[in-house]
Amino acid sequence: MNDKTPRRCLALYSGGLDSLLAIRLMEDQGIEVIPLFFCSPFFGFGALRDPDTFTAVHRERYGLNSLIVDYTEDMISIIKAPRHGFGKHLNPCIDCKIGMLRRANALLETLQASFVITGEVLGQRPMSQRGHVMRAIEKESGLEDILLRPLCARNMVETLPERLGIVDRGALWDIRGRGRKIQIEKALAYGITEDLIPTPAGGCLLTQEQISKKVRRTYERFSPGLPLKEDLVLDVVGRKFILDEVTVLVVGRDDEENKVLSSFIASGNTFMKIADVPGPLCVLRGDAKEANLMIAAGICLRYGKARGINGQTALYGSDPECMDKTVQAHLLNEEYCKSMQD
Ligand code: SF4
Repeated sequence: MNDKTPRRCLALYSGGLDSLLAIRLMEDQGIEVIPLFFCSPFFGFGALRDPDTFTAVHRERYGLNSLIVDYTEDMISIIKAPRHGFGKHLNPCIDCKIGMLRRANALLETLQASFVITGEVLGQRPMSQRGHVMRAIEKESGLEDILLRPLCARNMVETLPERLGIVDRGALWDIRGRGRKIQIEKALAYGITEDLIPTPAGGCLLTQEQISKKVRRTYERFSPGLPLKEDLVLDVVGRKFILDEVTVLVVGRDDEENKVLSSFIASGNTFMKIADVPGPLCVLRGDAKEANLMIAAGICLRYGKARGINGQTALYGSDPECMDKTVQAHLLNEEYCKSMQD
C-alpha cells in the first residue's frame, strides 16, 4: 500500500449500528466502502435464505451495496474445534472473527481494496474485544497494520492507512466500553432516524443456551465427521425430535417457521403435514422408513389444530408444494412425544 493506493476498503458489516457507523466514518472521508455481510444458519440466516431481499433492504435503508458471504462451511469446521475455545455457550467468537477477517483479507486484491474496517469497540465484548485479543486477531488474520476500527481507532495503535494519510486519524473516534448512548447520538447526527437505527446485534444463535445444546448434540451425532448445513438449519427453526440415530423431525411452531421450513428442500428431507386442517409443516430428515413416518405423523397431529382427533391422514413428499403420499396419523401421547424432543 502507498499513498496512490485506491481509496477503497472492505467492511465487516453485521447489520448492526456499530458497523454502519464505521462505514459512515469512512464515507465521510471520501473512501469507498464495500460492506461484506457474513451469514450462516446461526447469524444472518435471512440473508443466507434470500440474499437479494437482504441487499435490496439494506440498499434502500442505508444506501449500502452489501456483498453477501456464505460463511456456513467455515462455521461448521470452526465449531468442531475452535483453537481459541468457546464463549459462554457454543459461540467460538475469536476463531469466528479471525475466519471472517481472513476471508476479507483474501478478497482485498479481487475487490481492489487496500484495508479492512470493523465496527468493533474496545472493551465492548468480553471475549473478542479486549485490546490484546484484538491485536492477536489482527495477526492471525494476516491483517496486521491494515485492520482499522474507526469507532475506537484513537485508542488503538495507528494503522498503515492512517500513517499514509489515506485515512485522517483525527476524524476517527475513541469510543470505549459497552454503552450505546454515544453511538445512538452519532447515528441521529448522521440522519439515521430512530426507527432505522438497528437494534443491538445479539443475533447470533450460538450465544443462546438452548440452540447451543441442540447444535452440540447434532455434532455429537455426526462425530467424528461433521454435520451438513442441511442438518444444522434444523437446529435453529421449530421444535425438534430425535426419532433414531440417523433421523430427526422438526415441527414448525407458527406460520413464519412453516414458511422457513418449506424452503429446506434437500436430499434426505421429507415434508409432512396433516391433510385438510391447518397445522404445522414438518421436516423429517434421515430414514423415511414406515415406522418413522408413522411417528412423524403422530407428532405432526399432536402439534396441529386437529390434535385430539385420532385417525387423521398425513400427507408427505420431498416437495412441500407436492406432498402426494399418505400415511395414517394416530395421536401420540404427550409424554411419548416429549421423550423424543431434543
Ligand atoms: S457472536 Fe456469533 S457471529 Fe459473533 S463472533 Fe461470536 S460466533 Fe461469530
